[in-house]
Amino acid sequence: FTRRIKIGRFGHSEISDMARAFNGMSEQLSNLEQSRNEFVANASHELKTPLSSMKIMIQTLLLQPADPEMTHEFLSDVDQEIDRLNNIINDLLSLAKADASHVENRLSRVNLKDLLQATLHNLEPLAQRKQIDMEMVLPEGELTLQSDPIRLQQAISNIIDNAIKYTPEQGSVRIEAAQQGARIVIWVQDTGYGISPEDQKHIFDRFYRVDKARSRATGGTGLGLAIVKQIITGLGGSIRVESQEGEGSTFTVELPIEP
Ligand code: ADP
Repeated sequence: FTRRIKIGRFGHSEISDMARAFNGMSEQLSNLEQSRNEFVANASHELKTPLSSMKIMIQTLLLQPADPEMTHEFLSDVDQEIDRLNNIINDLLSLAKADASHVENRLSRVNLKDLLQATLHNLEPLAQRKQIDMEMVLPEGELTLQSDPIRLQQAISNIIDNAIKYTPEQGSVRIEAAQQGARIVIWVQDTGYGISPEDQKHIFDRFYRVDKARSRATGGTGLGLAIVKQIITGLGGSIRVESQEGEGSTFTVELPIEP
C-alpha cells in the first residue's frame, strides 16, 4: 500500500498531483489498517492473559490433588480472572457500540446536577473505602443540556472512578460544573499520583496504562478513557487533562448545551 507510484517520464503536474493524492490516500489507509491490527493484537493479548493464568491454575489442580485451602485459593483466583475477562469484554462492547456509526445518541433534556449527584452517590462507597473526601461544587440555578443521559453518565462515572482509583488513601476528589456561554464545563480534580507529560499524550489511547500493575490491581482494562473520549466527542464535546506528577490531575470536559 505504501509503495510509491513512479511517474517516470510523464512529468506533467496533473499526474504528479494525482500521484501525490493517491500516495497520501494509501498512506492514510495503511495507517488505519495498522491501528486496526494493533488494536486486534492488543485485545487478543489482554484476553489471553487471564485465560493463560486460569489454564495454569486449573492444570495444577488437575495434576496433583491439593489440600482444600490451596484449592480454595486457586479457585478464587480463577474467579477473579473471570471477572477481569468480563470487564474487558464489557469495555470492548462499549467501544464497539460507540464505534458503530448507526448508533445514534438518544438525546433528551438532561438535568446535569441530578446526573452528577447520582454518579457521586454510586461511587461514594468506593471513595469511603479509601477515606477519600468527595466534594461537589455546583452553581445556583439550573444546569441543563441536550444530551444522551446514559452515555454521559457512563463517561463522567469513568472519569470520577479513575480519580478515586489513582488517588492514594485520604486524598480528595472535587467535581465542579458550570455554564460558560453555550457550553457546560465539568472539572474532575484529584490529589492523586498525577500523570507525566509524556503519558498524558497517550492515556486516551486504547489499552494504554501508565502503571500496568496498579491498573490491574484496581480492575482496570486500559479502555476506560478511550470510551470516555469516544462518548464525549460523539456528544459534540471535548476532553483534556492537566496534571502534575505527585500532585494530582484535572480532567476537563466541555459539552455544548445544544449539540
Ligand atoms: P484503566 O482501566 O487502566 O484505568 P483508563 O483508560 O481509564 O484505563 O486510564 C488509562 C491510564 O491513565 C490508567 O491506567 C492510569 O495510568 C492513567 N489515569 C487515568 N486517570 C487517572 C488519574 N485521575 N490520575 C492518574 N492517572 C490516571
